Amino acid sequence: MTSTDTSSSALPADFGEAWVAQMRTALTAGAAALGDLDRRAGDGDFGTNIRTAMKLVEKNLDEDSPSGYSATLTSFYRAWLGVGGTSGPLFGMLFRDLSKAGEGSGAPTITEFAEALANGLATVQRYGEAEVGDKTMVDALAPAAEALTSAAQSGDDPVAALGAAVDAARGGADATAETIARRGRASYVGDAAKGVMDPGAAAVVLILAAARSAAGGEESVETDWIG
Ligand code: ADP
Ligand code: MG
Repeated sequence: MTSTDTSSSALPADFGEAWVAQMRTALTAGAAALGDLDRRAGDGDFGTNIRTAMKLVEKNLDEDSPSGYSATLTSFYRAWLGVGGTSGPLFGMLFRDLSKAGEGSGAPTITEFAEALANGLATVQRYGEAEVGDKTMVDALAPAAEALTSAAQSGDDPVAALGAAVDAARGGADATAETIARRGRASYVGDAAKGVMDPGAAAVVLILAAARSAAGGEESVETDWIG
């Protein structure tokens, strides 16, 4: 089927604001469980890093009063760049690429959003040098970016396309429980991390589920599966 109708691929006008709001809620709700995973499979600072990032997001939103997708995501990514750990800069660079989706002042289309996610994945891999299977956020991001791109190309509506991305990310995150980290501080604990899901990969699931909610999907993001 060919279609020139792009209206079904448009994300809601308030997508940026709604996505950031949903991410703040979901990441704050999940911070304790994500921190526990990092305690079992890493050095334990991930929960604190997320809480610090969300505090900086609040401060930036207050100071910047951003309006529109790109400006709102800019306030969000700059907060991550101010946080320590490996995840702060990596999420900062991921969201910087995502802030450029569409490049206009309005919300991007799902196709533009998928392209930005693929760019963000490439940036994370360029700086972090992690491949799929290294037990990092890349294990969730890579299948999600692929699923989102192919769903957007087949003309799926944004909620369905983001749903496919969430499912793919979740599959990738679940699989990290079977592997040993080769990157980040989790790599120092070796076999002790067996059976423990990578917290960064789990966070990616929350981030994409928040996007699905912001696009008009399920109202809130579940966090009780993390553990
Ligand atoms: P650190 O590993 O420095 O303690 P955090 O605890 O803030 O950093 O974040 C941990 C998460 O960061 C991990 O769960 C993993 O998903 C992600 N991560 C760590 N190193 C890398 C890397 N080189 N590439 C991609 N993601 C990484
Ligand atoms: Mg850590």
